[in-house]
Amino acid sequence: MRILSANRSSRSTTNATKSSTSTPVSSKQEETGCADCSSSRTEGRQGFWQKVKDRYPLVDFNSLPEYLRDNEFILSHYRADWPLKETLLSIFSIHNETLNIWTHLIGFFLFLGLTIYTKTMREDFGKFMAPLMRKPATRWPFFIFLGGAMFCLLTSSTCHLLCCHSSRLSYILWRLDYAGIAAMIATSFFPPVYYTFLCHPKWRNFYLTGISVVGVMTVMVTLTPRLQKPKYRTLRTLLFFGMGVSGVIPGVHKLISHSHEPVTLTTTTYELFMGMFYAVGAIFYATRIPERWRPGRFDIAGHSHQIFHILVVAGAYTHYRAALLYIEWRDTHGCD
Ligand SMILES: [Zn+2]
Repeated sequence: MRILSANRSSRSTTNATKSSTSTPVSSKQEETGCADCSSSRTEGRQGFWQKVKDRYPLVDFNSLPEYLRDNEFILSHYRADWPLKETLLSIFSIHNETLNIWTHLIGFFLFLGLTIYTKTMREDFGKFMAPLMRKPATRWPFFIFLGGAMFCLLTSSTCHLLCCHSSRLSYILWRLDYAGIAAMIATSFFPPVYYTFLCHPKWRNFYLTGISVVGVMTVMVTLTPRLQKPKYRTLRTLLFFGMGVSGVIPGVHKLISHSHEPVTLTTTTYELFMGMFYAVGAIFYATRIPERWRPGRFDIAGHSHQIFHILVVAGAYTHYRAALLYIEWRDTHGCD
């Protein structure tokens, strides 16, 4: 596999070099007297990647050091023990983590954009919607959730990019990744619980304190070294799954105590969709479908972890839409 990768890349470079030498000289290049500038820059870039490919070829599963052996159904296109610079730059090259990095990096920028949008546009909307003499509902629980989502997506993306550098960095980043997932689940409770139980501070504080304590405990469990081995994957998945499912309790409470409010039905529908996205994502994550059916077929695109990532972003976005409904409701419906 190592030899195959090197041969393929040297062939593509030869073809690319041929095409660059046959490119006609543009009038701008003639004006500046620098006809070879763009082709030499292109060759420089290709030269860099060629050196990287020669010195650090992508390897197959059997050549991996122990700390990178995680999914035996992904057979090839691994980076292993790369220096930090090459590892960082590999964000722009094709390997079996490329889509894992970008699915959550794009998700991070999506939520960054939503945070800016909510802070600017929605703030004015709240002031407009809130009746005279009443302040719009506070936004901090909403931003807690957006912060948790961005932290989760960014740590995940960073982890997938840099974990191949060394076992030590891999160990630290995987812990951060799990901490990010726990943070996103815990902070997701804040908008629905805060706005639903705005006028019932005892229940509000009970649920928010409860999920904060459980979130911190989950992070501590994920930091325990002996629970990080691949054989504990299902246990870890169940732990996070259980934390998410505990959201059913305040959800049912809302359905009972606020059954007369139209917003109850709409937000619950969004929350059911969110739960479905996360649950299906967790199933893909744990079962490693579809790559277990055809090992090696989904190394670059289509393997379970990429599907899991996309479903996580979809679930978080659905939750964002539900949280907007809560805010609109509380901008117009206070406690008096
Ligand atoms: Zn991931």
